[in-house]
Amino acid sequence: MGSMATRSAVIVGAGQAGARTAAALRKQGWQDRILLLGDEPDPPYERPPLSKDVLAGSTSPENGRIYGPEWYADNAIELRTSARVETLEIGARRIVSGGGSAENFDILVLATGCRARTVDCPGTGLEGVLSLRTARDARRLEHLLGSGGDVVLVGGGFIGLEVAASAVARGCRVTVLETQTQLLERAVSSHVADHLARRHRHRGVDIRLGARVVAFEGRIGRLRAVRLADGSCLPADVAVVGVGGIPNVELAQAAGLSCDTAGVGGILTDSHCRVADDVYAVGDCARFDDAWLGRPVRLESWENAELAPQAAAKAILGAPEGYGGVPWFWTDQYDLNLQLLGLKQPVERVLVRCDPESGSFLTLGLSEGRIAMAALFNAGRERRPLKQLIELRAIVDPRALADPDTPLKRLAKEAAANGKPD
Ligand SMILES: Cc1cc2nc3c(=O)[nH]c(=O)nc-3n(C[C@H](O)[C@H](O)[C@H](O)COP(=O)(O)OP(=O)(O)OC[C@H]3O[C@@H](n4cnc5c(N)ncnc54)[C@H](O)[C@@H]3O)c2cc1C
Repeated sequence: MGSMATRSAVIVGAGQAGARTAAALRKQGWQDRILLLGDEPDPPYERPPLSKDVLAGSTSPENGRIYGPEWYADNAIELRTSARVETLEIGARRIVSGGGSAENFDILVLATGCRARTVDCPGTGLEGVLSLRTARDARRLEHLLGSGGDVVLVGGGFIGLEVAASAVARGCRVTVLETQTQLLERAVSSHVADHLARRHRHRGVDIRLGARVVAFEGRIGRLRAVRLADGSCLPADVAVVGVGGIPNVELAQAAGLSCDTAGVGGILTDSHCRVADDVYAVGDCARFDDAWLGRPVRLESWENAELAPQAAAKAILGAPEGYGGVPWFWTDQYDLNLQLLGLKQPVERVLVRCDPESGSFLTLGLSEGRIAMAALFNAGRERRPLKQLIELRAIVDPRALADPDTPLKRLAKEAAANGKPD
């Protein structure tokens, strides 16, 4: 055990959530040791630019670093990169890293994130077949896209579509393969998906729905083609598999901590990010009891990696506050910034605010008179009032919502003044 004089907070996983946890702990008053261990060679960085500006060639992953080297020294954060934690011994309050070195903890925070899901078919080991999760993946892919050629995206989710847009910008011929009958099936309504599909097709992307890959085919170890279930074959110099993430829970599971193994996966926490006494989990790897939604969720988003660490630090420092809120996610594709508020769910009615032809508009999904989810197309300025309306679970006149001359700010102010219905 750590001595009473100097306690140790050990954070496993040096991604965005891990780094933010270290910062939040220090800022909120943790005076003792903070050790941040990550298995990647890079110090903590943000992933969103990897599929966007990095692939477009306009920035490097290094520019996405969360803190510079001096920050770790100034804040007395011990950062160890290329350090994989192999075992958690919860009872003994010890973690063991590769090579057998052990560290004691008084507080343990798991921020192990996700890894890219793969597809189960022949040829995934060919050169030119890759996934995109890390800075290393992005550097490799950026290099490959630089030579143009035929690029096939396996999966019409956010990563696939962002890579498609970046590859088009690099002059590649791009095909997106999606097994479902719409793009982004898990995340957005068909209305939003159709709009995105039109944008991509307009830029020359061949989008194939209901298409399943059965093999990657190559010559002398290099990818040459992608074969589909209908027997057809697409020429391919590069194939990027973007079929979702798998939360890294194995470490927690082996240590006997509660994990969801049947559903979306994740290390189970309460609404204070707590897994067990003195053990916490934050970010993509956690399935937390969302205090606002009133049910467990696992989110793979930049915002969750920012905010969950704040909540965990509060709980660790003895001032717990329920964590949760209206989920927010964004994606950038071509000249479109799309922001999403709320989780996909069945809605009774969809309103469109402003003219889609103008390029800046909103779609609002209504359920029982309340906004359940919203999509903002180049309309980020409306995020704040919309989020407030959703948060308040306000019942709003649909005519006012659909009317661009009625400011959402005003509606949010009125709803806040009226207080929560029910
Ligand atoms: C290409 C890409 C684009 C994205 N774009 C957007 C976007 O536009 N908007 C948005 O909202 N979100 C976006 N996201 C999602 C967002 O980046 C993630 O939700 C966020 O990075 C999660 O942070 P995390 O720290 O929980 O996990 P991660 O960033 O995955 O970090 C976890 C770290 O822990 C390490 N680790 C795992 N196991 C161990 C172990 N045993 N020992 C040591 N280290 C370990 C991992 O290697 C990793 O470095 C994007 C993600 C990707 C991959």
